[in-house]
Amino acid sequence: MNKNSSERTLSIIKPDAVERELETKIKKIFLDNKLNIVDSKKIQISKEEAEEFYKTHQTKPFYEKLCSYLSSGPIIAIILDGENAIQKNRDLMGATDPKKAKDGTIRKLYGISIDKNSVHGSDSLENAKAEIAFFFN
Ligand code: UDP
Ligand code: MG
Repeated sequence: MNKNSSERTLSIIKPDAVERELETKIKKIFLDNKLNIVDSKKIQISKEEAEEFYKTHQTKPFYEKLCSYLSSGPIIAIILDGENAIQKNRDLMGATDPKKAKDGTIRKLYGISIDKNSVHGSDSLENAKAEIAFFFN
């Protein structure tokens, strides 16, 4: 096991899951899968901050609703660290649409719909760095 292959990613527990008090259950899934929690904080962001966070989705038809949603209530931003953390977190999350997510994934277990899908996870090293800096600077 090479220490250098350890990397960091950003997870967000979205408003629907915070509201249903799923923080401990979701964090347990990370810890059980060798993703360490480096830092974690509960915050509520503004619509403008959500627009900045999701700016890569600016042109998508769901952008407006997505940004309203992410700013609609408290969220928990988490820095995860571990071997292959970015892909591992994506695998643990499951498909964007909970209906299509595999059994045992966070979205299959807890997601309500494609928009209220309980968690966010960075999708690349570059985005992970930017997203961690967004919440933890
Ligand atoms: N989303 C949505 N409708 C769609 C596609 C995506 O509401 O048709 C939302 C959903 O909450 C998703 C987020 O936009 O988590 C970002 O979309 P992305 O394609 O990056 O999915 P993810 O990386 O979260 O799986
Ligand atoms: Mg994404």
